[in-house]
Amino acid sequence: MKKNFTCINCPLGCQVEVTLDENREILDISGNSCKLGEKYVRNEIKNPRRMLTSTVKLLGSKYYSVPVKTKEAIPKDKIFACMKEINEVEIKAPVNVGDIVKRDIASTGIDLVATANRTN
Ligand code: SF4
Repeated sequence: MKKNFTCINCPLGCQVEVTLDENREILDISGNSCKLGEKYVRNEIKNPRRMLTSTVKLLGSKYYSVPVKTKEAIPKDKIFACMKEINEVEIKAPVNVGDIVKRDIASTGIDLVATANRTN
């Protein structure tokens, strides 16, 4: 089986082709111009992760919400669970960039942090 990826590590956007066996083990990787492309597709196949950005409800402020992101990339299959928790979060102003909004979001071991300052 062959899978195609666009490497997102630099603006070149190499088209990388991966050949897998029936157990999804990698047999061959081609089309990447450097090792970063190989590392990228190995991660995409074995442990795909994404940074998650969103907003949470803010109380006690003229602003309705505050933008947030996961401090690190989370497993792709946890995105739905994270969004469900994010939608239930309410925090009180003031909030500063980097403040932890929710610890260990969706049991990923990764915190959700604010990405903007919000006063009352
Ligand atoms: S494989 Fe290397 S050169 Fe190609 S897009 Fe990825 S980082 Fe850039």
